[in-house]
Amino acid sequence: MISYFFVALSKYPIPPLIYSSSVPLKKGSRVIVPVRNAKRTGYVVGKASAPTFKTREIMEIIDKEPIISEKMLLLAREMAEKYASPIGEILDLFFPPSRLKGLKPKVKTNKYITLKASISNILSSHLGSRESELIEQLLESNTIEYSTALKKIPRSTIQSLLRKNFIEIVEFEGEPPSEKKVSLNEIQKKIVQEILLTPQKPHLIYGVTGSGKTEVYFEIADQVLKTGKKVLILVPEISLTPQLLIRTRARFPQYNVGIYHSSLGTSRKIEWNNAIKGKTDILLGTRSAIWVPIKDLGLIVVDEEQDESYKQYAMRPYYNAVDVAQRRAEIEEAIFVLSSATPRVETYHLAHTEKITLHEIHFRPFGKMPEISVVDMRHRKGEILSDELVREMDKTARDGNQTFLFVPKKGFSTRVQCLDCGYIFTCPNCDVALTYHKNLRMLKCHYCGHTEPFPDKCPICGSKNVVRGGVGTEKVEYEVSKIFPGLRVKRIDREEINNVESLETVLKEISQMKVDIVVGTKMITKGLDFPRVALVGVVDADHTLAMPDFRATERTFQLISQMSGRAGRGVLGHVIIQTREPLNSALRSIVSGNADDFYRTEIERRKKLDYPPFKELILITSLGKAPDMAKKRIDTVKKKIEDGPFEILGPVESPIFKLMSVYRYQLLLKCDDLPKSVDFLVKRLTQNTLGFDPTSTLKIDVQPYSTF
Ligand code: ADP
Ligand code: ZN
Ligand code: ZN
Repeated sequence: MISYFFVALSKYPIPPLIYSSSVPLKKGSRVIVPVRNAKRTGYVVGKASAPTFKTREIMEIIDKEPIISEKMLLLAREMAEKYASPIGEILDLFFPPSRLKGLKPKVKTNKYITLKASISNILSSHLGSRESELIEQLLESNTIEYSTALKKIPRSTIQSLLRKNFIEIVEFEGEPPSEKKVSLNEIQKKIVQEILLTPQKPHLIYGVTGSGKTEVYFEIADQVLKTGKKVLILVPEISLTPQLLIRTRARFPQYNVGIYHSSLGTSRKIEWNNAIKGKTDILLGTRSAIWVPIKDLGLIVVDEEQDESYKQYAMRPYYNAVDVAQRRAEIEEAIFVLSSATPRVETYHLAHTEKITLHEIHFRPFGKMPEISVVDMRHRKGEILSDELVREMDKTARDGNQTFLFVPKKGFSTRVQCLDCGYIFTCPNCDVALTYHKNLRMLKCHYCGHTEPFPDKCPICGSKNVVRGGVGTEKVEYEVSKIFPGLRVKRIDREEINNVESLETVLKEISQMKVDIVVGTKMITKGLDFPRVALVGVVDADHTLAMPDFRATERTFQLISQMSGRAGRGVLGHVIIQTREPLNSALRSIVSGNADDFYRTEIERRKKLDYPPFKELILITSLGKAPDMAKKRIDTVKKKIEDGPFEILGPVESPIFKLMSVYRYQLLLKCDDLPKSVDFLVKRLTQNTLGFDPTSTLKIDVQPYSTF
């Protein structure tokens, strides 16, 4: 009997095609089908009735049992609709990329052995006596330094256990976290209970860094695992460190803990296989892990839910893993927990309108919150470091503690300008000001990498009166060294620290107190945990505030809150924020320690301006090598969708009009009904204008993270 199926093609973004098959097939199976003269992989997404046109036959079946469940297929279908993507493009995300390059990135670190498999797995197999010896030691202490183990246990024994996948060698900087199953305090216990009592509702754990949020979701995970279900924990790219993996393994020695992210190299496939076969109990991963077709999922946690790395914006499909996670949890009836010290304004709003259950933790169990003050930099022309900040830096150093200075931009001078005609030196490929790098003695573009020598005259008026303005990390480092010649200063930015090794090295120096002052960009705001940082200086709070984006204030709030979180981990901390906008709502609420004030003000503002969560945004960008082609295209698009169920802003030149020699125009849509709006766009704009072809020049970003 011949039957017909809709097959969505892999890596070939068009709507599903109909093929015939003489054998029965299950939905969700992968198959090989002919497309013109080539063979392609496809996904069976549904049954079709016999078409009137001639169809070709499915050539091969890849999965005897489909890896993609009905529920995951439903998720794929919904997300394809939500993000205006063909379903094949979403289904591709369920699998590790077929061509994986390289091994895990190498870093010079300490090697530790940890248990990889669960205890029951290991004990149910036959072990040699040397093998048992090592396993027993690991059960006792969780980790053993590789070199220490080698002194007592032959290398062949370790190798054999590695081959059986019972143990793993993990490398990282510093000491492994010691296993301590904490007993939760009353607030933590109450949150755990409340979440377990209403598993069908989404939950937000909202509390400052170090307030014990991780311990709360660990406990929930523990309860879920006991029922035999699996746990998925999503973390921002920057936080997925070996330390976190070890901490999780140490907390759950009886379970298999897997890891999934894009820079795993070839081991990504192994991790994926373990997860889909049910061998992994807890999967820790970044954005892409949300698509791993784990069966029996009982809990999804999203840590630091506001993190930008959850949004895929640089390539199709432009999804946000937090939103996908919420829908996946609903479909799979898994518990859904968000955790953050600085949630997105939208999430905060949902938590206060009871669409998400809010759980607050106000205090750190240990350590105090730092004291925060603002220095008004208006009328202090040319001053980079205020007297107040310098005085405090001096005191901090005399106490034997460390200072972190946050500077938003790298380089020496962030602006080079002609004093006579006002011309600002910009990149020939991008529409951005060039930064002067003193050590390179060059002007550099931070978007495309273009460099040129420092000019001896203005190309417009010929004047020699060319000056440098704007402050970058190099300049601050230079100033600090001048003021404190005796102190050891380190700079951390992408220019100075361009690989994992150099980052690990400098972090080690900081923890060994070989550095007094750290000057750095956003790279230093997150995750770093040093007990001796007593002072954090925000050299320029105004930069992110001035971004032409609806999230500018929110970003500043999150950035400075996180930066402040660096202070006072072990010693009493102080934060000094330099700004020309001392009355800004974000800054004021950071100083008063009242985050709710910030959120309330910001929600009011978003409401007035019709921004999320009150209206949803769609950003349509037209890209072209020639500006008039890009413009023509965006005008055409606008005409085609003018009667849509949304408000259209634009077209305007994108905030960075020219980027890497590509010109960009954009339309911003404000929608009351997002699904209806996306549906309208898909119907109105033909496949070609929609950019299903990867070389196409129209980008439709549903719920863009920023409009910048
Ligand atoms: P967050 O996730 O909010 O940053 P963590 O859960 O990581 O906070 O907790 C910060 C530190 O405090 C960790 O070292 C953790 O083990 C410890 N901690 C958290 N809760 C407790 C508790 N109830 N008793 C003892 N230590 C705790
Ligand atoms: Zn000039
Ligand atoms: Zn450039």
